[in-house]
Amino acid sequence: MKAAVLCGEKDIKVQNIPEPVCEPHGIIIKVKLCGVCGSDLHVYKKDEGKGTIFGHEFSGDIVEVGSGVQGITPGMRVTAVGFSPCGKCYWCQQGKSHRCSDMALLGYQLPGAMAEYVHVPFAALGRNVFPLPEELTYEDGASVEPLSISYFSVNRAQPKENEIVAVIGLGVIGLYSIQVLKSMGVAKIFASGRRPSRLAAAKPCGADLVIDAAKEDAAKMIMEETGNLGVNTVIECAGKQETFDQSVAIARGGGKIMLVGVYEEPLTWDPISVLSKNLTLVGCLGGNFPAAIELLKSGKAKTKDMITHVFPLDDAAKAFQAQLTDPTAIKVMIKP
Ligand SMILES: [Zn+2]
Ligand SMILES: [Zn+2]
Repeated sequence: MKAAVLCGEKDIKVQNIPEPVCEPHGIIIKVKLCGVCGSDLHVYKKDEGKGTIFGHEFSGDIVEVGSGVQGITPGMRVTAVGFSPCGKCYWCQQGKSHRCSDMALLGYQLPGAMAEYVHVPFAALGRNVFPLPEELTYEDGASVEPLSISYFSVNRAQPKENEIVAVIGLGVIGLYSIQVLKSMGVAKIFASGRRPSRLAAAKPCGADLVIDAAKEDAAKMIMEETGNLGVNTVIECAGKQETFDQSVAIARGGGKIMLVGVYEEPLTWDPISVLSKNLTLVGCLGGNFPAAIELLKSGKAKTKDMITHVFPLDDAAKAFQAQLTDPTAIKVMIKP
């Protein structure tokens, strides 16, 4: 089968590789669509991870089911998460392999869905394999993972309806976070980002004020808008020194900063401003797939304007370039 393989720094090639073999507790999915993720780009940009087949945001049809798998049948339209615990660490020894400290992830250590077929080990219905309701398209299905991250992170903040929330960084996680905040009835949502297409998408997603951080001082504007009080919660989706500093500057006393974006570099920070305002910094790594599917089913979240580019698998290299540099790109997907 064809698969997009990382062959070196920013070098994706489509190669012919053997089709995956279904393990007794696994399933094989014929991939319909697969998103290029910001986390993929972190690896793509470095000369590490040669041989990686990316792809953890996908949808497709089940074509094979292992003998030990229950409740899953060929033909099901699904999205899924794949991981394989190490079996050796403290948590694995305790029988809590979901907490494994050395988990191999599908799309990184395990071959991902930028291929015609993907093998999902340890398939369990409702735990890591999720059928798509008929209202959901394959585009929706391949968007469940990023939306699930936004839902998880926003829900962890538990924003109240009368609060003000700022979303910093308008990649797809930031934009979906705005949609989730809107669905929760949050009174005022500020959004700050850089790429024009993403700034344009923020309002339709539900943002009340959109700030072009390339031209304006986002922190200054947000402080002015809030009478110098700042916001109750910041959803920090950019993962940069500058945006971390902004988040600390705009969070009001007792406020929360949800750290969602992946930082490529370590931070330098002054804890004084965090402790003097009694801020809470919350790390967010996780997703809620059922909640994301429900949001899409109810129409409260929409993927249509988020998916700006779809490339055939043969053009996977172009897809990565577009996700990295194209100013019009929000979410780029690959169609095997
Ligand atoms: Zn992702
Ligand atoms: Zn383990």
